[in-house]
Amino acid sequence: MISCPACKLNYEAEPEVCTRCNYPFGGTGNEKSVFIGKLVIEKSLIEETAEKIKNARIILLLIGVLNIVLTFVTETNYMLSGLMFIGFGLLTYKKPFVAVLIPYVLLVLQYLIMGILYPHTILQGLLWKMIILTGLTLALVSIIRARKLRKKSEFLKTLGKNEERFVNISEPERSVTRTTTQQ
Ligand SMILES: [Zn+2]
Repeated sequence: MISCPACKLNYEAEPEVCTRCNYPFGGTGNEKSVFIGKLVIEKSLIEETAEKIKNARIILLLIGVLNIVLTFVTETNYMLSGLMFIGFGLLTYKKPFVAVLIPYVLLVLQYLIMGILYPHTILQGLLWKMIILTGLTLALVSIIRARKLRKKSEFLKTLGKNEERFVNISEPERSVTRTTTQQ
């Protein structure tokens, strides 16, 4: 009985390549360590997607709440827009990509249209606009990258069909990967 050092799948006899994570059993020591190094990076890139989505969710919910508060303290009614952003914020749990992409496009359009109609508003809240767009962009990039990486092997696929789930990767798997890297 032999188990894959990268993904811990058990084999009766040593295979040439792991069927689950593509670990090169038959490769040289160098090929093996390069593979493990890449896998660790790919795992962490997939894992950090959940964090990026969480940041985007916080941004969307805050914009939503702020719009609703403004409705009560100003003359303008931002209630619809507020509820919409809260809705997209909550949708990030189920459909993170769409839930971030749509408000992202709407915000960019809003900034552009306002900038063209009222050029003096471009610099207003510039820092906030940059923080908002950066946070949403990072989430979108991370989601797309994680989707691509997950297609590379069965093992990476298990790291997150649902973007939120792979926060709980079991510790033993991590320690196995770490031990192998040190060799
Ligand atoms: Zn494996």
